[in-house]
Amino acid sequence: MTGAHFSLILLPTLACNADCEYCFENKSPQRLTLEQLTVLIEKVMDFLEEQHIGRLSLYWQGGEVMTLPPEWFEQADIIIRRSAEARKKEVVNYLQSNMIGYSGTWNRVIAEMFGNSVGSSMDFPNLHRRLTVGGPEEYEALWARNVREAREAGIRVSVIAIPNEKTLEIGAERFYSHFVDQLGISDFQINTPFPGGSANRVKDGYPLEAERLGRFLLDLATVWMERGFDKGVQLGPFDRLMKYFVHGCKDLLCIWQDNCVNGFVCVDPQGHVSPCDCWAASYPEFRYGNIFGSDSLYDILRLSDARQRLRERPELLIQREDCIDCSYLGICHGGCPVRAYTVTGDLNRKDPYCSVYKTLFEGMERIGACRT
Ligand code: SF4
Ligand code: SF4
Ligand code: SF4
Repeated sequence: MTGAHFSLILLPTLACNADCEYCFENKSPQRLTLEQLTVLIEKVMDFLEEQHIGRLSLYWQGGEVMTLPPEWFEQADIIIRRSAEARKKEVVNYLQSNMIGYSGTWNRVIAEMFGNSVGSSMDFPNLHRRLTVGGPEEYEALWARNVREAREAGIRVSVIAIPNEKTLEIGAERFYSHFVDQLGISDFQINTPFPGGSANRVKDGYPLEAERLGRFLLDLATVWMERGFDKGVQLGPFDRLMKYFVHGCKDLLCIWQDNCVNGFVCVDPQGHVSPCDCWAASYPEFRYGNIFGSDSLYDILRLSDARQRLRERPELLIQREDCIDCSYLGICHGGCPVRAYTVTGDLNRKDPYCSVYKTLFEGMERIGACRT
């Protein structure tokens, strides 16, 4: 991996205080200790030095990060700052949390370590996000209360939403109003669900029906353009697609990168190194190695068969699928490998949301053309 920037998704725990029906994690009480974090960070810094990389983005995810105490993160911040300073590297930390365990005791570390910003998740209507002891209503009420308190404390909360059957039924207008007008969220993103991890009734319904999902997304893009675009509401992936089609700026989601395997590495609490959090806990066959069992992260990446298979995907995909004839190959590259693998069992197939993406690309290109 080369370049001036390295992205590491760090899962300090696979424990979670929720029990969402579409969760792809194989949850476990395993936690990273501060001693292990120290070792891990030093190995990552060695890697940055070897590769002449100056900047590290650390994406803290889980499980649920807030099942660890805020004091753990205060110590983690000290460890990382010391190491970064000694190696003359820049580190930026990003926090992803379900906010179920949030309280004011988190405010200091969120301000000092995470730039007063948290990424969270909520759906509308919420059917599948549940507490370990409580259903979707209890989850949503607790989430809304905690997000409100966090925002009152000055914390910026962005949201990732996963559409479901009911979302498609209620339509884009109500969906947009719920997040922007009712909850006051001005930065959110729509992700597509996939049947990762162990099977269940909810995941049997994935992928969502492409035509309805495509129509919903285009309607949502239209609502956003009419009501939010000029007011600075950020709504992904439409905002990034607009930037691409209007300004040629190729800062797209991971699912549309040339090959995400070159952009991300994930480490779980046991030190297993994987392509991203979607693979980490449920697909051990795609692990690259273990950071605590090797002297060099570079060697783990260089010698991994699983990583090599993922690197070869775009080329093999083109031989087997019709992507070569697609006008959007240059921004899609066949889509997300974990979505392809979990739906087809074959890494070298195109993303099962292909037709949704095409609808979206065509629609956003058209909308972008009206803006130029
Ligand atoms: S909050 Fe995340 S990790 Fe926890 S159950 Fe829900 S989807 Fe899974
Ligand atoms: S496997 Fe999919 S979700 Fe994971 S980084 Fe790649 S594109 Fe993103
Ligand atoms: S939109 Fe579909 S056909 Fe086009 S590159 Fe993406 S996966 Fe391939």
